[in-house]
Amino acid sequence: MSRVEVLSPRSPVSFDFDIDVITSCSPRSPSGLSASFPREKRLTNAILAELLYTSSHVVHATEDDSEEVIVVPGLPPVYRGHREFHLRQGVMKAAQLTAECEPDAEKAFFVADLSYVYKQHLRWKKNLPEIEPFYAVKCNPDPYVLRLLAALGAGFDCASNGEINLVLPLVDPSRVIFANPCKATSFIRQSARAGVDMMTFDNTDELHKIARVHPGAKLIIRILTDDSKSLCRLGLKFGAPMVTVPALLGKARELNLDVIGVSFHVGSGSYDSNAFSDAVMRARMVFDMGKDAGYTFTLLDVGGGFEDPTFEASASVLKDAIEQYFPARDNLRIIAEPGRYYVAQAFSLAANVIARRAPPTAEDVDPDSENPSVMYYINDGVYGAFNCILFDHQSPQPYILSLDGSFHVPSTVPLRPSSVWGPTCDSIDCVCSVTQLPSTLQVGDWLAFDNMGAYTICAASQFNGFQVSKVTYTAGGEFGREVREALRTFAS
Ligand SMILES: *Cc1c(COP(=O)(O)O)cnc(C)c1O
Repeated sequence: MSRVEVLSPRSPVSFDFDIDVITSCSPRSPSGLSASFPREKRLTNAILAELLYTSSHVVHATEDDSEEVIVVPGLPPVYRGHREFHLRQGVMKAAQLTAECEPDAEKAFFVADLSYVYKQHLRWKKNLPEIEPFYAVKCNPDPYVLRLLAALGAGFDCASNGEINLVLPLVDPSRVIFANPCKATSFIRQSARAGVDMMTFDNTDELHKIARVHPGAKLIIRILTDDSKSLCRLGLKFGAPMVTVPALLGKARELNLDVIGVSFHVGSGSYDSNAFSDAVMRARMVFDMGKDAGYTFTLLDVGGGFEDPTFEASASVLKDAIEQYFPARDNLRIIAEPGRYYVAQAFSLAANVIARRAPPTAEDVDPDSENPSVMYYINDGVYGAFNCILFDHQSPQPYILSLDGSFHVPSTVPLRPSSVWGPTCDSIDCVCSVTQLPSTLQVGDWLAFDNMGAYTICAASQFNGFQVSKVTYTAGGEFGREVREALRTFAS
């Protein structure tokens, strides 16, 4: 392992130094930057001063001091320290790169706190000890998230060959479920070769395909449940209606296929925990239909749709329903496919204000506007990390990371309605149509967004030539040691 520097966390103070080191960026006028952008210069200088101060407090980690930083071959390091510290660290680094005239110096970045994923796993075990989580890879196939969850004993819900190939180096194929009811025949054949046997279906064509290329598969019938009270209604696309189930099971029997259980998905972003109760009741009915078709089911897959804020409520409804509908369950294995639950809050995004459009004078700003007259442009948008706005019905809200050269935002700073936009040339690229931001917020300042781990990076595009924002990893707080311990399984 190479020598790694870890900067010690400290609480930043407001700074207003003046170091004349950055004005040489402009070949035209040596002091041009300070002349035309006095504030921007101050900001960069101040953050540089901060950086210089911090670097005198560097902790060096050497090979025998591997407690400090985890390095998995081919992946970026996992640092220690609180997420906020690394967000600020990134801002300071950007200031330094700006001073060095690096292209793309101010690019947006994620900070992922893997301790949060660990914490969610403990929370899962505490509330749903009987249910094995199979993490839904599509939600965020981050290499460290996958490694951490693999080390913690989770399984994986995959929807494609690509996802299966991501997790098979990490876990045994028995810990993978191919939970896409409509698969390409070549994908089914490939999963047979890889030894991935558990897969879902919800139609007879799928049964014919599976009988042809993976006759030894262990099938799970995906049933339709009431997802009308969820944001992402997966039932529009998947799930066998109850009335079709007996015929489907009859067909499976006729084709000599092994159906081992039932799965459902109450919908992503469900705001009604009772959906789980209704779904478990339907699953019970399908277990009985299985009996009629000559099967003894042994697997119940309760799907995903668990949300951070309502997790305990959903878990409690689910446990009660399982107790009610499956009172004798010695021979029953129960699994789930949580996605967003594990990662949503583990990732934050920092984005730089790269441009602003505002009325020429403060008097012209309409303070009560529903359509704010002040518009900020940041360097990630709906074609990138914020695709969750379009695809996952989210409304991320920014907070101020740095304002006027300081990480300290005075509580007295006046706010005004503003809108926040992504960097592309498409008008659909709106991150926030109305939000309250400080009237002093300007180009060069940084915004941050929490809750950016689910359905963000994985679907980000490079539309218009903007790169996908990179991730800085940390394992901070009380579970840092456990996370490093778990990841060491994969470190060289
Ligand atoms: C998307 C998906 C999940 C994960 O959903 P979350 O809302 O992120 O928990 C689980 N199972 C299947 C089949 C899915 O399609």
